[in-house]
Amino acid sequence: MAGEILKQFHQRSIAHPDDFWREQAQRIHWERPFDQVLDYSRPPFARWFVGGTTNLCYNAIDRHLAQRAEQKALVFVSTETGIEHQYSYRDLYVEVNRLAAVLKQQGVGKGDRVIIYMPMIPEAFFAMLACVRIGAIHSVVFGGFAAHSLATRIDDAQPALLVTADAGMRGGRSIPYKPLVDEACRLASHPPRHVLLVNRGLDPGLTWVPGRDLDYAQSMQAVGTPEVPVEWVESTHPAYILYTSGTTGKPKGVQRDTGGYAVALTASMEYIYCGKPGEAMFTTSDIGWVVGHSYIVYAPLLAGMTTIMYEGLPTRPDGGIWWQLVERYQVTTVFSSPTAIRVLKKQDPKYLTQYDLSSLRYLFLAGEPLDEPTARWISEALKVPVVDNYWQTETGWPILSAMPGVEPTACKFGSPSFPVYGYNVQLLDENTGQPVPAQQKGVLGIVPPLPPGCLSTVWGDDARFVSTYFSLLKERPVYSSFDWGIRDEEGYYFILGRTDDVINVAGHRLGTREIEEAVSSHANVAEVAVVGIEDKLKGQVPIAFVVPKNAGLLTDAAATQAFEKQVLEAVDSHLGAIARPARVYVVSLLPKTRSGKLLRRSIQAVAEGRDPGDLTTLDDASALEQIRQAIQGTL
Ligand code: AMP
Repeated sequence: MAGEILKQFHQRSIAHPDDFWREQAQRIHWERPFDQVLDYSRPPFARWFVGGTTNLCYNAIDRHLAQRAEQKALVFVSTETGIEHQYSYRDLYVEVNRLAAVLKQQGVGKGDRVIIYMPMIPEAFFAMLACVRIGAIHSVVFGGFAAHSLATRIDDAQPALLVTADAGMRGGRSIPYKPLVDEACRLASHPPRHVLLVNRGLDPGLTWVPGRDLDYAQSMQAVGTPEVPVEWVESTHPAYILYTSGTTGKPKGVQRDTGGYAVALTASMEYIYCGKPGEAMFTTSDIGWVVGHSYIVYAPLLAGMTTIMYEGLPTRPDGGIWWQLVERYQVTTVFSSPTAIRVLKKQDPKYLTQYDLSSLRYLFLAGEPLDEPTARWISEALKVPVVDNYWQTETGWPILSAMPGVEPTACKFGSPSFPVYGYNVQLLDENTGQPVPAQQKGVLGIVPPLPPGCLSTVWGDDARFVSTYFSLLKERPVYSSFDWGIRDEEGYYFILGRTDDVINVAGHRLGTREIEEAVSSHANVAEVAVVGIEDKLKGQVPIAFVVPKNAGLLTDAAATQAFEKQVLEAVDSHLGAIARPARVYVVSLLPKTRSGKLLRRSIQAVAEGRDPGDLTTLDDASALEQIRQAIQGTL
């Protein structure tokens, strides 16, 4: 049960947000103090710390120079290239200033967008900080996305410059990035003026576009070691855009502010993650995801900690590598995902006893449901509390979590515990809009204003922000998480899955509509349905049911197999392998309502061997039978 201290802490944050957040705001440096804690004159848009000016880079780096210039700020470890490098706060200051100067030299200024499409290397880290230093808005695009996805994001953000590398590395193999950037720039209507390229020497076929492409190392050398004054920006100035999937094919650009984000992250380091200045945090995500933005880059630095950035697999050279790093760098806080832990669970258990893990205090896991066996296994093995966090790209920091820094509470396996301070969480009945009692399922909603750090809008589309997130109820605006939740008698929350057609693969959100559009790009695809089905390792994986335009072309098993392979390749080249369906099944008809709406839920239920539910609206029952037979291999 939530303790009294925790309850009161949360209640105060909701009842007196001005007082609560004014106090929290003292954690960061304001160049000009704010006049108003919250401007909520235009609901549901919340503007935090209005009138104040600050800078995310200043708070992350410069502010620490007086006390911890020689302390490690960033430890970079690549088991792919064998490179391990430590950067003190001073080193980080130097690198970020140099890169800020390079960006400025190329005409990048306040409010300009910069796309960062990079592997997990320090230059990506520097690029994010250099952008916010000069008031430019970064948009990190996960390196696993393909050219088409990158082009969509380029056109939405219209960047002045794009930072990339020749290649990434995965499992010892080099994965070229530059050809995808070239292709994306060709596909985009608003390609960047310049591409700044980190040449790691991993791609022998690397080509340069004269006049557009700039070499990172040469550019850095040319500027020397200048100091670039920070750009003091309004608290509400966008720090970054981060795209996320929804129900439509078009990804949404989550826009994050500066001051609210800095305050929310800094406070979370004390109340949730219990990280102290001088300690080390290891977040195993990728900078392309929100967890990477918040807890690899910004929050640990805001808190004066050392952050570990890791390029490589959790199982190479062996399944002990992460624990080895915990020992070597005296890590106190590890933040990872349930999928990663399930991967490690398959490894030899000796890896968990081989290293001295006495520095470790907490393991945080987020991004997808944490199943009880995984939670139990890892907490028994590590003998530290395992804290399940529930949050979204949109919120930037946890909505539900235990808050050991406020008051330690017992964790229940399968539950991310309680609403975090600042979030007025309600589980709502879909039909009546009324809060549901304990033990009853409801849509997890947040009564606005959203707390600091959450998205301020959808980039370039205020109307979409309102219509997407605040249309759950007609009577009043409530933020919809699009997740089902339930609360037990003791107030513990449990997340039951999405209310929409979004699936969660290894903690990454994928829109089924996006995958369907990619599949449809194949010339012989007439119709397609993509659903997510349960997977032991990744939580969920997408599978596709395809109706070919010309079934006559699929003369035999070999032709059908070749077709299925081409469909997968279409997804790879459109979205990237991350969205690749685990299987493609060819059918002649898809289950639809009489009005033509695809019955995804029923398809998913049949594919998972469950009861498809009420089928009164189904147009042709043989379609669902085909799905069953396709799955059973008897079609
Ligand atoms: P993303 O924005 O990509 O991080 O995905 C957010 C979604 O992941 C949420 O809306 C949930 O569906 C799911 N999710 C995140 N954290 C958890 C968690 N701790 N338990 C269950 N589902 C989660």
